Amino acid sequence: MADNSQNREEDVNEQTAALGSPWPVASQAIIDAGRFLHQRGWVPATSSNFSVRLDDGDIAITASGCHKGALDEGAVMRINRAGEPLEARRPSAETLLHTALYQRYPSATAVLHTHSVNATVLSRLHRTTLVFEDYELLKAFAGIDTHESRLVLPIFPNDQDIARLSTLVDGWMDAHPPVHGYLIAGHGLYTWGRDMAECLRHIEAFEFLFECELTMMRVKRP
Ligand SMILES: [Zn+2]
Repeated sequence: MADNSQNREEDVNEQTAALGSPWPVASQAIIDAGRFLHQRGWVPATSSNFSVRLDDGDIAITASGCHKGALDEGAVMRINRAGEPLEARRPSAETLLHTALYQRYPSATAVLHTHSVNATVLSRLHRTTLVFEDYELLKAFAGIDTHESRLVLPIFPNDQDIARLSTLVDGWMDAHPPVHGYLIAGHGLYTWGRDMAECLRHIEAFEFLFECELTMMRVKRP
């Protein structure tokens, strides 16, 4: 295995540090993403969490317990890059998973975590990895330019100890680049992008692939 720093550089096309967004742009991107994802049925109730890297290096993230389809600016809060709240509110319980992704990928400026039915069902059926091959839609992922590609989506056991879960995710990502997202079993999907548009594209592409996999399983059954 090549050394990790080299692997990480190969992980996404552009690893130069991205400039983040000013607060009003970041919070609006999070609010709009919530409406879109809720319309698609991928962020039920108060589940899920979203974040955007800010231009001063802090991070805008959804506060804990907010309904993601009806976010307003008051539901978005500021944390530092270590995940510590910079306001007297509680950020999402899974904040550490977001900050770990920003540390790993200097080019990432948006992270989305969703709880769709299809992601939840597939993560309970497969347990360790989902492998997608020969799908034209693989080209929706940054760095993939042919359907003749193989995307491995790891599945980690759910864990309420987020620091422990983050360590497990980090170890896997160190050993298996490039990674485009991951599932937590019985729980949901994490993916990221160089901007919110790319991140949303990754969510849509994963959801399309999940739907295809589940449809094939139904068709194959007697
Ligand atoms: Zn979650």
